[in-house]
Amino acid sequence: MTTRAFIGLGSNLDAPAEQLRSALQALNQIAGSRLAGASALYTSDSLLPGQPRYTNAVAALDTALAPLELLDALQAIENDQGRVRKERWGPRTLDLDILLFGDQVIDVPRLQVPHYHMHARPFVLYPLAELVSEDFRLADGRALAALLQACPFVGLERL
Ligand code: ATP
Ligand code: MG
Ligand code: MG
Repeated sequence: MTTRAFIGLGSNLDAPAEQLRSALQALNQIAGSRLAGASALYTSDSLLPGQPRYTNAVAALDTALAPLELLDALQAIENDQGRVRKERWGPRTLDLDILLFGDQVIDVPRLQVPHYHMHARPFVLYPLAELVSEDFRLADGRALAALLQACPFVGLERL
């Protein structure tokens, strides 16, 4: 049995677009997993002052892994691509977040799904909308269309 997960990708260091392209290839190499789709790349200013501009995208991944196994695999890819963890929300070569994992709602210490802040991030919602139907709902029932309406396409540039 496979589950469709949606992964948020972000980078603002060391050639971000290249980081995202490498990460998409790495996602397709995860055991028991297949890249089913990827959005365009989007750029936007950092939410925190003084950081380089971000490049973001969303990927659809069909996976036979359990959620925490997938998180382990994503963190291994982040580490492979030189992620250094200093301050929280600091600049990074690669961030891979599990936005959605099928219709599961997960709340354990290492993993909360749907991702706790995706509803307020245009650089997540607009790329996600490229990959799903217009009537798509998050696992907790929220309609993507309503989230998009409440989160204007401001400050985003679609590459
Ligand atoms: P944000 O969560 O605000 O996007 P971030 O992605 O920069 O911030 P990280 O430093 O990448 O945060 O991750 C911190 C921890 O968040 C991870 O070690 C992981 O255990 C936890 N985490 C909780 N929920 C998720 C999720 N849905 N996807 C990825 N990591 C998660
Ligand atoms: Mg993140
Ligand atoms: Mg993260």
